[in-house]
Amino acid sequence: MSAAPRPVIIAGNWKMNSTPADAGALAAEIAKRTDVDGVVRVVCPPFVCLFAVRDALEGSGVEVGAQNVHAEPAGAYTGEISGQMLAGLATWVIVGHSERRRDQNESDSLIARKILRCAENGLRPILCVGEDLSERIAGRAEKTVREQLESTLEELARDGSSLPGDVVIAYEPVWAIGTGRTARGADAAAMAEVIRSALLGGGFENAAAVPVLYGGSVTSATIGEFLDEPSIDGALVGGASLKVDEMAGIVARAGLTAQARRAAAG
Ligand code: PEP
Repeated sequence: MSAAPRPVIIAGNWKMNSTPADAGALAAEIAKRTDVDGVVRVVCPPFVCLFAVRDALEGSGVEVGAQNVHAEPAGAYTGEISGQMLAGLATWVIVGHSERRRDQNESDSLIARKILRCAENGLRPILCVGEDLSERIAGRAEKTVREQLESTLEELARDGSSLPGDVVIAYEPVWAIGTGRTARGADAAAMAEVIRSALLGGGFENAAAVPVLYGGSVTSATIGEFLDEPSIDGALVGGASLKVDEMAGIVARAGLTAQARRAAAG
């Protein structure tokens, strides 16, 4: 018997799409069409749709995620949402998405505090890292991702903390998000190894067990290239996660990988 295989995870990031009126029906349809053995499925709707999606997914096996959480536990932060507010509505949270790093100037230090809020509230973080196009062209992609992780770990250590054991990392090259361009499977796999080595180097002993997802224009046609790589454990899916047929195809392919991993583990 070898070590338990890492789980295969498909998480959908709905971004700023859907409304409380239609989100429940979409989530329920996705749940029905993706009912595949062995795949962890997560749907991350906008905050205002969390109630509807949570209720629609009850008993379906699909888990609910939020797209963000505030870095402070509570206080005078008008319009913000805390970890405590999310507990009971969601069990996952996307942190450090590149759209928030870009549009809200989120730093690694802020992101580290968001991870702390997740840990305090029983929320499982999906920490997004990835290089932009200029960094990839300049040959600095691995350095960028390594630095993002190292500085997040350092910030957590400053607080006397560390990454939660249940963290998931999403490698999302910024140039591939919403552009229709994807990384090559082999490049994403190499980055997954960089990620685990950076975590290990930063003192996170369980790095080998951390699921690493790929994100960036994943569709049912491209998911296979990533799941063929043993170091990639699934995908964070944006645009295609709003399309039921696409999600059905992506999760069906993920089911094959989950099955193969179980068989290989004996
Ligand atoms: C994302 O939002 O995390 C993402 C990967 O988006 P897309 O699949 O649309 O590129």
